[in-house]
Parts: sequence; structure tokens; C-alpha cells
Amino acid sequence: MVQDRLIEWYRWEARDLPWRRTRDPYWILVSEVMLQQTQAERVIPYYERFLARFPTIESLARASVAEVISLWGGLGYNRRAVYLWRAAREVIERYGGRIPKDRRELQRLPGVGRYTAGAVVCFAFREPVAFWDTNIARVLTRIFLGPEARPSCRELEKLAESVLPRDRAYEWNQALMELGARVCLARRPRCGDCPVRELCRSVGTTGEHRRRSERFTGSRRYYRGRIVAVLRRRWGGMRLEELGRALREDYTPAHREWLEQLVGDLAREGLVEVAEDRGDYMVRLPGSGEGGQGAETGRR
Ligand code: SF4
Repeated sequence: MVQDRLIEWYRWEARDLPWRRTRDPYWILVSEVMLQQTQAERVIPYYERFLARFPTIESLARASVAEVISLWGGLGYNRRAVYLWRAAREVIERYGGRIPKDRRELQRLPGVGRYTAGAVVCFAFREPVAFWDTNIARVLTRIFLGPEARPSCRELEKLAESVLPRDRAYEWNQALMELGARVCLARRPRCGDCPVRELCRSVGTTGEHRRRSERFTGSRRYYRGRIVAVLRRRWGGMRLEELGRALREDYTPAHREWLEQLVGDLAREGLVEVAEDRGDYMVRLPGSGEGGQGAETGRR
């Protein structure tokens, strides 16, 4: 049976990852948010540093967003840090500091989607729930449906549910992730090393073809990350023109509209604050201005 083989393999082969040594729902929530779109090995030092500074949900909720973003720096997708901070505050305000056990309740928290809620419920509270992200979806599809299958979200939902061993949900879900990260890779699956190769409908598949990667340097995502990185070094913020020149050497007034749009988007997402300042705008990380939290004066 696929489940027995995979779980057995996981017991012997699993990487010793720090979030696998805890059942604290807050620590697991932090790990799951950090792991969104980021590989485990890269997450580890950030995870450890983050929890050393914010060991409890209360400590995170008390911090300023600027401090949280600063500590997050380098991990990318800074929006996740803001959502995590907002989620911490909501857990304190609405649930008295206890992360809810109910998946639907969890999904109401900022930045917590169906996958993350499922992972927290399963890994922290040991509930037998099925959930999937891109990696789990790929593994399940290959094993149970075949290399050409393109299941819809609903079909994946049903598949994940139907193959879940309810008495070993934790190990099964971890094992699927482990296999997806190390053996059943998107582009070059290592079927020869796979513990379920005799049972898999896609054994021998050549994997997904490489898409032409988008140029990152110079993209909107690149500059969004740069803005946050520059502001992290300038506690208290900087004026918009100054920020533009810090971002790109070729900055001219013609770039102003482009910069305002970028900053406006970041302000709407809660990653920066914008305040009027003597005919220009002052941009800073939320809570990094004089007087702590600062006013929510972003351009909307
Ligand atoms: S046999 Fe190959 S395609 Fe099937 S699960 Fe293993 S690595 Fe993936």
C-alpha cells in the first residue's frame, strides 16, 4: 500500500527540521507561513532567529510591524510578515491568545489560507485533515492519477481526502511533503530512488518542462523587495524622491509615477506607511516613525 511504504520511508529518511520537533501551534504557524514559496533549508535560520526574538504569539503581537519586517528581511515576500503580525494580534484580541483548533476559524486569520490552516490543524493539533499545496498536489497526482492528469482543485481535494490514512495523518502529510521536496521533484523526479515506484502511475515520467523564467532584476517584485530593504536600513523613513534615488541610479522625475504606484501598493498591503511631508511624501516601515506606531496615513 502506498501509504505504508511512504510512511515507513519517512520514518527513516525524514530531515530533522525544527518545526517537526514542536507541537506548539504558534511555532508551527510561523513555520508554515515562512515555508510558503520558500525552501525548508532557507527558512531554518530565519525561523530560529524569528522565534528567538518572538517566542510567543503575545511577543509578536506586541512588536511593531517595522521590527517584524526587519527580522523577516531577506526571506522575501514581506507581505507574509505583515499578515503574520496581524494574525497574532487577532489571535490575542479574538481568541484570548490561543490559536483556534478549527480549520475554518484559522482561515479567517490574515494570510492563512486553506493549506496553512490544514497544516496547523494537522501538525499542531494532530487532527486527521487532508490539505495540499503545489508539491503535495504534484505527488498525489503522479502517484494516483498518472503523468498526464490535470485534476481540478475539487478533484484534488477529493483525492487528498480519499487517500488520507486517518490514524497516521501527521506522518502521511509530512511524508508527502518530504517526497515532493527531495525525490518527486517537479522537473527531474528521481523515480529510481523513490519508495513508491512500484505503485506509482507515473514512474519514469520526465517531469514538468522548464518554463522560461521571468527576469527578476528590474521587475516589480524586485523593486518592491528593494523598497522594503532600503527602508529597513533607514529607521524613521525617507522622502519619496530620496527613496527613488536610493532604488535606482538612473532615477529621474519621470520615474515618479512608477514609484508612487509601487509605494501605494505597498502601503495598501500594510508594508509601508506614507505621510505627507512638506510637499513631498515620507515613506517608512509601519511603526518605525517617531512615536512608535505612527499614523495610518497611507495614500489609498
Ligand atoms: S515513482 Fe517517480 S513520479 Fe512516482 S512518486 Fe516516485 S518520483 Fe514521483
